Amino acid sequence: MSNEIEKAEIFWNELLKWYRENSREFPWRSTEDPFHILVAEFLLQQTHVRKVEEAYIEIIRRYPDPAGLAEAEIEEIEDIIKPLGLIYRAERIINAAKTIAEKYEGKVPGSAEELKEIYGVGQYISGAVRCYAFGEKAVPVDTNVIRLFRRFFGFSSDKIRPRTDGELRRKIKSTFPDVNIKDCNFAVLDFAAAVCTASNPKCGDCPLSTECAENN
Ligand code: SF4
Repeated sequence: MSNEIEKAEIFWNELLKWYRENSREFPWRSTEDPFHILVAEFLLQQTHVRKVEEAYIEIIRRYPDPAGLAEAEIEEIEDIIKPLGLIYRAERIINAAKTIAEKYEGKVPGSAEELKEIYGVGQYISGAVRCYAFGEKAVPVDTNVIRLFRRFFGFSSDKIRPRTDGELRRKIKSTFPDVNIKDCNFAVLDFAAAVCTASNPKCGDCPLSTECAENN
C-alpha cells in the first residue's frame, strides 16, 4: 500500500482523469456570480440535482440580484420551489437576500466570517460560495463527500452527524491539491453520484479500486 501522500496523488490523478470524461454540466457551474451560486446551493440542499435546474433558472431570471429578491413575494418563490419540496427554503432565500442587500450593500461577501452571518448559510454553502465564486481552497463537505473519503481513505468520525465533525472536514481538505480546486470539488460530487454511490457502488468499474481502503 502506498503512503498517504502517494495515495492522495493517485486519488486525485485518477479522479480528475475520470472527471474530464464524465463531468456533469449545470447552469450554476458556468457562472462565478456569487449570488447565483448561493441561490443554487440553497436549492440543492437535500434535493436531487436534476430537479433544481428549472427552479434555479426561473429565480435567477426574475431576480438576478439580492436587492430584487429581497423584495420578492414569498408566495412567488414558494411556487417556484414547490416541485422541489422543502418549501421553507423560499423564506430562507428571501431572508438571505435581505441580509446581503442590507448588511453587505448587495454584494455576497467572500469571507467565511461574513458568510456565516447570512441567514441559512452553514459550512457547506459557505464553502461552495467561497470555492466556486471566489476560487478559495474551500471544501464543502456533505454525506456524499464523506462517503467517498471514508471508503477510499478510511477516514472515520465518531460524531453522530459526521458532517459536523470539523476534524474530519480538515482531514478531507488536507488531501486536496492547491490548484484546480473547483474541478476537484465538482469531481468528488460527480464521482460520488455516479460511481461511489450510497448503495451498490460500482467498484468493478472504479478507477480507484486498486487503492481503495474499502476493497483492500
Ligand atoms: S472501489 Fe468502490 S468503494 Fe472504493 S472508491 Fe471505488 S466505488 Fe467507491
